[in-house]
Amino acid sequence: MSDEKIRLNTDWLCDCGGCHVALVDLHEKILQVLDSVEIQHCPVLTDVKDYPPARIGILTGSVRTEHDRHAALVMREKCEIIIAFGTCAVYGGLHGAGLAHSREEIMEHVYRRSPTTKTDTIPDAEVSELAKMVTPIDEVIDVDLYLPGCPPHPHFIFESLASLIEGREPRVTQDSVCGRCKRQMIKGDAREIRNTLDEVPDERFCFLSQGHICLGSATLDRCLAPCPNHGIACTGCAGPTMQILTEPYLDIRTEVSDRMARLTAIDEDIIKTYMEKTAKTQYAYAMATKMIGNKPTFLIKKWIADVEGQINE
Ligand code: SF4
Ligand code: SF4
Ligand code: SF4
Repeated sequence: MSDEKIRLNTDWLCDCGGCHVALVDLHEKILQVLDSVEIQHCPVLTDVKDYPPARIGILTGSVRTEHDRHAALVMREKCEIIIAFGTCAVYGGLHGAGLAHSREEIMEHVYRRSPTTKTDTIPDAEVSELAKMVTPIDEVIDVDLYLPGCPPHPHFIFESLASLIEGREPRVTQDSVCGRCKRQMIKGDAREIRNTLDEVPDERFCFLSQGHICLGSATLDRCLAPCPNHGIACTGCAGPTMQILTEPYLDIRTEVSDRMARLTAIDEDIIKTYMEKTAKTQYAYAMATKMIGNKPTFLIKKWIADVEGQINE
């Protein structure tokens, strides 16, 4: 490796900023990265407006506006390697849940109804118009490395950057969140689906064994399983495992329903129906990706419309 520093650009598209903050969460390891990397365009660290040529480009967020699309295309042109960084960039992320609503509903809620942001004015200038779809970035530009996670854990961020700096493959597993979870899967006697308002689940045993929905078995580990190890069921924020994405007959609903039915006395169809009724939650992070959209779960929007229709009746 030459002594010349590797030039790095980052940019954020439609996102919450959390992925850029996660870069700083490398703590002292960021000094190791900075030994080898020169940060150029980076919205949280530098006031560089253009996009200088770079070896590595980190893109966070999904594409929802013309500005996002433009930034993604310019980054692709200027950077040799593009990392889709974070679940929004890889799968559309939480913004994908917005696809369950029209653009008008979203603008009306944010600018006229939400108590914390309401202005009574819906902006029509200076703010880029929302595109109809939420688009993961690899549907707009080619991506070289995918790093999902909401945000990805510093362990995986460091490994990805180190592998690119050292010119080797990243050393990461394709395990699910269950692989890092300390809870034990046992056959339980739960007869109905429960939630944490009903009871505090026993911390020794798997949430599924106790009748609580947990998406750990359908979710890629890019977080080291903090939620189930600290009393909270996994909501799937790192996006689906490779198995879910690549096996045509598998999706989040079928994987979790099958596993939970085996670990409890609850009928599998009851669990599937529950997951359909709560689809906006269960598929929140991956709803925008065609990889999930092409599965049997293309019915997600119908499930949501059915449930909202029942609520409005
Ligand atoms: S992946 Fe999560 S942390 Fe990263 S920008 Fe999207 S919402 Fe924020
Ligand atoms: S399903 Fe959830 S609670 Fe059960 S082992 Fe997997 S991550 Fe842990
Ligand atoms: S355990 Fe699940 S919800 Fe929690 S950070 Fe990991 S993927 Fe996200």
